[in-house]
Amino acid sequence: MHFPHVTIAVPDWVGAFCASWSSGFATVQARAAFVVALSQQNVSHETGGPFAAAVFDPLEGHLIAPGVNLVVPSSCSAAHAEIVALMVAQQIMGTHDLGAAGLPALELVSSTEPCAMCLGAVPWSGVRGLVCCARGTDAEAIGMDEGEKPPGWIVALENRGIRVMRDVCRVEAAAVLQGYVAGGGLIYNGRCG
Ligand SMILES: [Zn+2]
Repeated sequence: MHFPHVTIAVPDWVGAFCASWSSGFATVQARAAFVVALSQQNVSHETGGPFAAAVFDPLEGHLIAPGVNLVVPSSCSAAHAEIVALMVAQQIMGTHDLGAAGLPALELVSSTEPCAMCLGAVPWSGVRGLVCCARGTDAEAIGMDEGEKPPGWIVALENRGIRVMRDVCRVEAAAVLQGYVAGGGLIYNGRCG
C-alpha cells in the first residue's frame, strides 16, 4: 500500500509580507498588529480562513515563524494558523520542543484565541507565552466553531509556566473576522452532528 506524504507550506506571499513589515516586533502590540495584518492578508490573498499566528522571540523582538490558516486549501482540518506557525518554528529550530534548553523563551501570538485543538497544542509546543488578539466569542460571532475548551484554560496554561495575554489588538482582529464573513468568506466548520 502507498499513502501520500502530507506537506503543509505557508503560501509564497507570506515571506514577502514578513520582509516588508517595517514596524518591528519589539512590543507585544507590534507583534499582535503584525499577526492581525497577516490574518487580513490571508483573506485578501484567498489562501485560507481569517486567522494568523506567529512565533516570536519577544526579548529580542524577532519573528521566528509565521502561520496562516490553511484548512481548506490544504484539505487539512488541523491546519489552523497556530499549528502551522508552531510546526514551521519547530522545523526552523530543529526540535519538537520550543522550550528546549538553550532556546530563548518563545511566544505564540494568535489573531484569535486558540480553539480547543490549538489550546491542546500550546503546552506540547514548548512556548512560554501566548498572546491572543480576538476572543473565541468573536470567531463564534461569525459562525466559526471553537470547540469545547475548559473554562479554566488560562489558569491551566499559567500553571504550566505559559504566560497568557488576551485582547491585544482585539478590535482590529475582530474587524478582520467581520470583514471575512461580510466578503462572503466560507465558514468551513466540520460536520457538527
Ligand atoms: Zn485552532
